[in-house]
Amino acid sequence: MKKKLSLTKKIFLAMFLGAVFGILVQRIGSDFIKDTIILNGFVKVLSNIFLSSIKMMVVPLVFVSLTCGAASADNIRKLGRVGVKTFIFYISTTCIAITIGVILSLTIKPGIGLDMSHLLVTEPTISQNNSFIDVLVNIIPTNPIASLVNGDMLQIIFFSILLGIAISLVGKKAEIVKNAFESLNEVIMKIVQIVMSFAPIGVFALMTNTFATMGFNAMIPLIKYMFVILFSLLIHSVFVYGGMFKLFTRLSIKPFLKKFIKPASIVFSTASSNAALPVTLETVNEMGVDNSISSFTIPLGCTINMDGTAIMQGVAAIFISQVYNVDLGLPAILTIILTATLASIGTAGVPGVGMVMLSMVLQSVGLPIEGIGLILGIDRILDMCRSTVNTMGDCICTIIISKSENSFDTSKYYSSEVNTDILADDILKTTDC
Ligand code: ASP
Repeated sequence: MKKKLSLTKKIFLAMFLGAVFGILVQRIGSDFIKDTIILNGFVKVLSNIFLSSIKMMVVPLVFVSLTCGAASADNIRKLGRVGVKTFIFYISTTCIAITIGVILSLTIKPGIGLDMSHLLVTEPTISQNNSFIDVLVNIIPTNPIASLVNGDMLQIIFFSILLGIAISLVGKKAEIVKNAFESLNEVIMKIVQIVMSFAPIGVFALMTNTFATMGFNAMIPLIKYMFVILFSLLIHSVFVYGGMFKLFTRLSIKPFLKKFIKPASIVFSTASSNAALPVTLETVNEMGVDNSISSFTIPLGCTINMDGTAIMQGVAAIFISQVYNVDLGLPAILTIILTATLASIGTAGVPGVGMVMLSMVLQSVGLPIEGIGLILGIDRILDMCRSTVNTMGDCICTIIISKSENSFDTSKYYSSEVNTDILADDILKTTDC
C-alpha cells in the first residue's frame, strides 16, 4: 500500500518546489509567459484564493475563540488562588515573550533590504497622531455589530472578552450560550483545518511569487526573520522559563528537560500543542505534579498560553512593517504588543492558527495583510518550534504552581524513569496527522 505523505511533508515539499520554480520563472525571457500566464495568471489566482481563505477566518475566529477563552475565566474563579496565579503567570510571560521578539526585530531589522512597498495597491495608514490612550479609548465599540462587519479588530477583541466574562459571571443560566460558543468554536476549527489542508498549494504559489519577483534577494531577509524568531524563542526558553523555574522551584532543570522530550517530540512533529495535550498532562504528572493542579493548568495553557506564537506575531508585524517601509510609532508598537498578547490567547493549539490570528495584529495597526503571503511559505518550520515553546510554557508554569501549592512530589521528579515505549507509540500515532 502506498504511504500517504503527511501535511507537514507536503508543505515542506511545496516550499522547496515553489522556490525552485520561482527561480526558474525569473529566468524566463518572454514577459507574456512569465507575467501574464504564470505570475499574474495561475500563481496569482492560487495565492489570492489561499490568502482570502485565511482572511475569511479572521473575524469569526477572533470573535468566537476569544469569547470562549474569556468564558473559561469561570474555571479560574472556581480554582481561586491557583487560578489567579496561573492566569498571572500565563499573561505576564506572554507579554515578556512579545517584548523580546519586538526588541530583537527592531534591533536586528530582518525586513530591511527587501522593499516591497511598490507592490502595495493602497498606502497603509498607521495613525501616528493617536496616542496609546486614544487607542485604548477607541477600543470600546459604539456598535459591536458594525465592528464585526468592518473588521475593527481592537473593538471586536474588547467586545468578545467582555461577552466571555459576562458568560462566565452569569454562570448556570448562560450555560446554553457557552455551549453554543464552544461548539461554534469546534466548527470554525474544522473550517481552519479544511483551509490548512490546501496549504501546500497556497505555499507553492506564494513561494513561486516571492522567488520569481525577488529572486535570491528574498532569501536573506527571510532567513533573518526566521533567525530572529528562533533566537527570541531560545532567549525566552532559557532565560525567562529557565530563570523562573530556578527562582521559584529551586529544582535542577535536567530531569525536566529529559522528561519534556516526550511531549516535545509530538508537538514538534505535529506543530500542534493540542495534539500532545494528553501526553503533556501525563508527563507533568510523571514529573511529580498533582493531577488536581495539572488537570486545570495544562488544558487552560493549551487554550490561552501561547508565548511562542506571541513571539512570532510580534516579530512578523515588525518584519512586515520594515518590508513595506512603514514607519511604526511607539503607540503602534504598544498596540502590537497588546494585540499580539490577545491574539495569542485567542490562538488555538492547532497548526497554522497563529498565522491566521496574525492578520488581527496587522489589521489593528493598519499594516498590509498581504505581508502574510511573504512569510506563510516558511511558517511550518517556525510553527513546529513555537508550538514546542508554547507547551514548554504550560509545563513550566504547572510545576511552579504545583511546587508553590505544596502539591509536588520531588522524589518523583528526580526519578529517572521515562516510559520510552509510550514515547515511540505516541510519536508513531501522531506524526501522520
Ligand atoms: N501551532 C501552534 C500551537 O499549536 C499555534 C500557532 O501558533 O499556530 O501551539
